[in-house]
Amino acid sequence: MTPDARETVDAYARHVNPAFMRLLGVLGYGRVFTRAEGNHVFDAEGRRYLDLLAAFGACPLGHNHPALRAALLACFDASPLFFSHVGPSPSAARCAQMLVERAGGDLSICLFSNGGAEAVEAGLKLARAATGRPGFLSCHGAYHGLGLGTLSVMDDTRLRGPFEPLLPGCETVRFGDVAALDAALRTKRHAAFVVEPILGEGGAVLPPPGYLAEAGALCRKYGTLLVLDEVQTGLGRTGAMFAFQGAGDERCTPDVVCLAKALGGGALPIGATLVRPEWHRKAYGTMDRFDLHGATFAGNALSCAAACATLSVIDAEGLVAAAARRGEALRDGLAQRLAGHPLVREVRGRGLMIGVELGPVDAAGLARLAAPLRAVVSEKLLGQWIALRLLESGVIAQPASQAWDVLKLTPPLTLTDTDVVTAIDTLGQVFDACRDVSSVLAAAAARIGRNALRGFAFP
Ligand code: PMP
Repeated sequence: MTPDARETVDAYARHVNPAFMRLLGVLGYGRVFTRAEGNHVFDAEGRRYLDLLAAFGACPLGHNHPALRAALLACFDASPLFFSHVGPSPSAARCAQMLVERAGGDLSICLFSNGGAEAVEAGLKLARAATGRPGFLSCHGAYHGLGLGTLSVMDDTRLRGPFEPLLPGCETVRFGDVAALDAALRTKRHAAFVVEPILGEGGAVLPPPGYLAEAGALCRKYGTLLVLDEVQTGLGRTGAMFAFQGAGDERCTPDVVCLAKALGGGALPIGATLVRPEWHRKAYGTMDRFDLHGATFAGNALSCAAACATLSVIDAEGLVAAAARRGEALRDGLAQRLAGHPLVREVRGRGLMIGVELGPVDAAGLARLAAPLRAVVSEKLLGQWIALRLLESGVIAQPASQAWDVLKLTPPLTLTDTDVVTAIDTLGQVFDACRDVSSVLAAAAARIGRNALRGFAFP
């Protein structure tokens, strides 16, 4: 490792996240990434990686897109006032206008924030203030962010545990289950039904066709707001500008749409919560309520400049259509290449949000293991091992954070045809070497043992 990289590792382990650094040493993930350009990332040793993770979909333009860079430099050159506390900000106004035009319909108010959890939190607060109802309904396996409000609408026990008790009145239903949704909503206890159009961190899980439209109709019937968390699916990721505008869901009319990640072009933190005006009026429409929601840096000039540039590049380069086309090529190519693989249950996805679900757990090799070990191997270890082998083969991809048995791909929307071929070839080769679960287990155990002797050092 270079001396600079060693210094980074030591300081990070001392001052930022010691446990993360130890964890990276367990299997041998440890790398210091020093540069990123287009669809590739480079480490301190000069190795190049195709980025199929892209910060969980936060890099729609790839890394350091020249138009984004130019827009940020131009923003500084104009010496703007970065904030909007004493008057309206031109860049926030422009950014809100661009978002509202793309969302269509009645989503005409934009609340700015600094990221995904804040954008969802804004939706939850607005729904309570507008309806006067206390409860929230959300889905099993959802991911909405790590704030106390957003954790309250997630059912992950590991993430929630240390922070209980969270908000009261939160309930969950099965994702995609219209009957369960109807039964829960008819109690009229819920201010909002918060849902991702596709479960992202839950493992790229698609709902049945028309689910969002039916959810919208039920929410309207029972006076609950439909809050769509498009933090991961928004801005072209699924082959539509917003996932709710995709085929089959055209009739869906959400009350609130939450955006973040891609909006900052992979460079700046920004969240936006688009709201129908009648709900905004009810929640914050009077002069004694105008400041009930906000944050110091919300809608700052630099983040808004990044968002405007990102939306412009998405249009100018046709990235929504590109995501649809290349997403289909990647998904279908992977499905073909991995067909019949004993440890691949399904390849699925929409646009450039693709999941490779691992399993089945009763594959010949796994069936010989005791049940608890089988669960650990199939639900935890396999995905991490494959991600490690991909990294060592020059591809960055990770299991979904709520479903480690699903390898999730959220590459930049700028993915090229050559990148698609590289991705299919590399995944194919790594999976070829992982057909037999006993040899995967033996290799992983040997690796962990070797790294343990080195105190799980990085690297
Ligand atoms: N909602 C969804 C659907 C997400 O995928 C995420 C992040 N993975 C969030 C909210 C939270 O976003 P952030 O990490 O920016 O707070």
